[in-house]
Parts: sequence; C-alpha cells; structure tokens
Amino acid sequence: MARDFAADIQDPVAGQIISNVGTWVDREVVPVASEYEHADAFPEPLVQGMADMGLFGIKVPEQYGGLDLSFECYAGVCVELSRGWMSLAGIINTHVLVGYAIDQYGTEEQKNYFLPKLVEPEIRCALSITEPDAGSDAQAIKTQARRDGDDYLLNGQKMWVTNGQRAGVYLVLTKTDPEAKPQHKGISAFLVEAGTPGFSSGKQFDKLGYKGVETTELAFDDARVPATRLLGGAEGSGFQHVMSALEVGRINVAARGVGVAQAAFDDAIRYAQQRVAFGKPIFEHQAQQIRLAEMATKLRAARLLTLDAARKKDSGERSDLDAGMAKLFSTEACQEIVLEALRIHGGVGYSKELPLERYYRDAPVMVIAEGTSDIQKIVIARNLVRDYPV
Ligand SMILES: Cc1cc2nc3c(=O)[nH]c(=O)nc-3n(C[C@H](O)[C@H](O)[C@H](O)COP(=O)(O)OP(=O)(O)OC[C@H]3O[C@@H](n4cnc5c(N)ncnc54)[C@H](O)[C@@H]3O)c2cc1C
Repeated sequence: MARDFAADIQDPVAGQIISNVGTWVDREVVPVASEYEHADAFPEPLVQGMADMGLFGIKVPEQYGGLDLSFECYAGVCVELSRGWMSLAGIINTHVLVGYAIDQYGTEEQKNYFLPKLVEPEIRCALSITEPDAGSDAQAIKTQARRDGDDYLLNGQKMWVTNGQRAGVYLVLTKTDPEAKPQHKGISAFLVEAGTPGFSSGKQFDKLGYKGVETTELAFDDARVPATRLLGGAEGSGFQHVMSALEVGRINVAARGVGVAQAAFDDAIRYAQQRVAFGKPIFEHQAQQIRLAEMATKLRAARLLTLDAARKKDSGERSDLDAGMAKLFSTEACQEIVLEALRIHGGVGYSKELPLERYYRDAPVMVIAEGTSDIQKIVIARNLVRDYPV
C-alpha cells in the first residue's frame, strides 16, 4: 500500500520522482520527524534536502530554472512528504501556490523577478488572506491598499499565516476599493517583500499540531509597496487570482490527508498482525479485519480523488469542484483513519513514543485550513448546480 500512489501515476517519470522522494522520506524524515515535532523546531536540514531535490521549483516553468512537473507529480510528492511528516508539505504549500499565482497572473516583470528566486529557493513564499474578522468569508477582509504616487500604502492586520516569519515574499489579499459591489471587484493581491518598511511579522501561534512550521500574525502600518508589486498590474482581480491558486493549495492539503492516513494505516496493519489478544493476533479477530478493510477503502478513495483533482488541474481546466471534493473527502477520511489506527494500537497508541499521537494532532488542521469542510461543501454544491439548470 505504501507505494500505491506512485503505482497509480500514469507518467513514469513522475512515478520515479515520487518513488525517489518516498525513499528519501523513509531514510531522512521518518527517523527524526517526531523529535523535531515535539520540540516544535524548524527542520532546517530536511528543508535543505527538499531544496536539493528541486521540490521548491517543482511547478516553476523550465525557462525560470524550475522542474515544471505535473500537478499529478506534485500531489504524489506531497503524499510522500506527509507520510513522513505533514509539516514538510505545509512548508512547500504556500510556496508552490504563490509561485503558481505569479506564473499564471503576474506581469512579465514580476515573473522575471520572482520566479528564478523561488527555485533554489533564494526566497520562500507565504499566502496571507485570513484576518481576525475574516476567515471563511474572505471577501470580508479589512486590510486596505491605498494608491500613493508610484506606491500603495497597506494598512491592516492578518493572522494564521503559514511560513509567516521565514518567507521572503507574501501574497497579500487587500481591498483597493472597499465600497465595490460585488465585494470581490474591490479586492487586489500584492506581492509584499520581507523588509518592506511598515510591514512586520508578529505573534507566532502555539498550535495543537502542524508544528515545526511557523504560523504567525502580520501587521501593515502604512507599509509602502511599489505599484509594480500589484499582482498582474491591475486592481480588482486579486480575489479570482487567489481563489484559482487555492485550487493548488487544496490539492496539496488533500494529498497531505492521503499521506498521513497512509502512515497511520501502515502502522496499524503491521501492529494488528503482531499484537496477540485472546490467543491470536488481533488481525485474526474479524472486527479488526472489518476496521482495516474500511480504513483501506477510504484511503484508496482519497488517493484516487486527489489524483483526479490533480489531473483536472493538469488539463488546464478550472478544478475547484474536483479539488474541493478531494480536499473534503481526503481530510475527513484522514481524521477517521488516524482515530481507527489509534484504536487498533490500544494503550500504546496513546504514547508519545509512537508517531500515532502526532498524526492524531496533525489531522484536524487539514479539515480547517485552505477552506473548512463546510466551505468545500458550499464550493462543490455551487459547481454542481451549474450542471443542472432548470
Ligand atoms: C494552522 C493554520 C494555518 C493556516 N495558514 C493560513 C495561511 O497560510 N494563510 C491564510 O490566509 N490563512 C491560513 N489559515 C486560516 C484558515 O484558512 C482559516 O482558519 C479557515 O479558512 C477558517 O476561517 P476561520 O478560522 O476564520 O473560521 P470561521 O470562518 O470563523 O469559521 C468558523 C466555523 O464556521 C463555519 N462556517 C463559516 N462560514 C460558514 C458558512 N457559510 N456555512 C456553514 N458554515 C460556515 C466554518 O466551517 C467553521 O466551522 C490557517 C489556519 C490554521 C489553523
């Protein structure tokens, strides 16, 4: 099962890359992940290892020095990283997503300036939508960008920004016209570089899981951002640009769900054959067979839905329906599978000596971030109804 995702990949080159990343994860990540996680320490050597494999440039076009691989390959890589430690796929998520937004919607100057820097990476990227009073309802943001000569002045507060301290560039959603109706027409996205006067990274959140990668507040106090850093160069398209990029984020999170669920399943099916109760391995008790069969079926469905969403994105079509379904199913299934794996382990699963407690703490963030499960259902329903005009 652990290598099934690579086996499901149609492109043999992508399959080989995913397999290589899986080998690296088994060798470098699995032995140290819980140690880093319990210390909430940024895994610098592992991030360097990801950079050495070119993963930060996985979706950057070749003309800017990147690998320019498919979303199918990207999804597989995220599964493998998360099988070792979910936070690693979080570290590259906003980086790849912002790189995608620049590549798809940036001006030529923005592409030439930023994309080569994302490959090594010379700088890493963060995405900043959420505010104290606006999460699911992203159009309710209050951060404003006001034109001032050749610049914009940004004012407001953001929160829950993954990679919020170590990023070199932040894709920030703002209001350039707070009175616009509909609201999204007054929303614009800016590429704000670290070190911009008036821009600072604040409090770091102490989280249940998803440790090692920092999640912070950001403050904008008359932050002076050149007009050349308005994504795409025109006001009013930021909301569409960011929503499109979020499809990439949702594929990443769906893949993370598959990876964590895979790790929990792998541990559970091995343990069930080793642990003896009432004179036989617990796997031979039919109740445990049924439990493992249900876990494996959900895991396979999550993997195939994630692949399906990635392939749709590769086709160049809008994939919010597919990415929404994949993210919804995979992350909810992951929570269930991790809990079932804990049950199979009995008391020992509750110990910090095994990684199950980490999977259990890591699972919930995936049903929240990049849009909660409720929001995915709304996105799915809105897409479905378009196919059934009355
Ligand atoms: C660890 C972590 C990392 C994050 N990283 C980032 C990041 O890098 N960048 C970023 O911008 N944000 C990030 N976020 C924020 C995340 O995207 C939001 O937390 C999420 O979108 C939910 O918003 P909220 O927390 O404001 O909850 P709310 O929007 O207040 O929702 C609260 C509850 O109400 C429900 N709800 C809301 N609206 C509806 C509706 N219309 N119908 C039914 N139910 C509804 C929600 O599903 C949820 O159950 C991160 C969050 C976490 C926890």
